[in-house]
Amino acid sequence: MLKIDLHAHYFPLKIMKDMKDDLKFSVERIDKSNQISIRIGNIVWNGEAYLGLLEEDKIIEETVRGEVDIRVLSLAPISYIYDLDEKTAMKFYTRFNDELSKLSEKSNGKLLGFAGVPLQYPSLAVDELKRAVKDLGLKGVEIGTHINGRNLDEFREFFSVIGSLGIPVFIHPQITDVIGKDRLRRYFFTNILGVPIEDTIAAAYLITSGIIQDYNIKVILPHGGGFLPYQIGRLDHGYKTRSDVREKISKKPSDFLSNFYFDTLLFNNEILDFMIRFVGVDNIVLGSDYPFKMGYFRPYDAIEHLSNEEKEKICEINAKKLLLF
Ligand SMILES: [Zn+2]
Repeated sequence: MLKIDLHAHYFPLKIMKDMKDDLKFSVERIDKSNQISIRIGNIVWNGEAYLGLLEEDKIIEETVRGEVDIRVLSLAPISYIYDLDEKTAMKFYTRFNDELSKLSEKSNGKLLGFAGVPLQYPSLAVDELKRAVKDLGLKGVEIGTHINGRNLDEFREFFSVIGSLGIPVFIHPQITDVIGKDRLRRYFFTNILGVPIEDTIAAAYLITSGIIQDYNIKVILPHGGGFLPYQIGRLDHGYKTRSDVREKISKKPSDFLSNFYFDTLLFNNEILDFMIRFVGVDNIVLGSDYPFKMGYFRPYDAIEHLSNEEKEKICEINAKKLLLF
């Protein structure tokens, strides 16, 4: 059985350094435990990470040590740069996709990639997505849960292209720009609570706007899908009682759960077991959140208690179906 990790990040340090004036970028490793401080424009991220965050040549070594066979890398969300101008954003994202594809090519099949796109400029994002998938062989696309405060239902055209390419979209919050961030700033709550709230909002907009229904989009929803599975009954009840919730979809919100692939980043066996029962094992995929420490270094450990059939689906079969290989 191959262990395929669909939720892992790549921080393009070389590009960030080359473009440091445009991006207003600086990085500092604070101590030996790999406490890192990264600044990009007004965004500051402080946290702990494994070596692969800043040392590209450690990614494969840490992937092997984490007992992962194939890791699908996506841009570390601290570097989405959705607030930057057209020229800088395009330069950054084209270089990012080029580098990611090169990294994948020289990895002997160990690393694959999801494209990044400057979604604040939707038509440029469409062009770059097509290039990244068709020319560079990237396997899907990662986007934020909102783009400078605009919810994902405002990007219908972009999703129609995702649908026609038949690729999955990995929706991942920008961890320093979550809803209610001023109220969440103590105890790391921007990450612990803000991240799953963002996942939930993004998914709810994609369902209720009809985007999932109209383009049959396959969504990888990280952090166990945020609160979506747990609160889907509330969305269904809204559908039953409110005409605005029914307006753009012809079946209830929970009927779209089969378009979602939830990762295993739940940190609790009983809740993972509930998820498998509730959404079905065909819609669960392995996730590590590597190289960040709010994740699993060895993601397989979190599912070891499951049956062999379940593990095979979560680790290999579902991912292969999604990535079309
Ligand atoms: Zn992540």
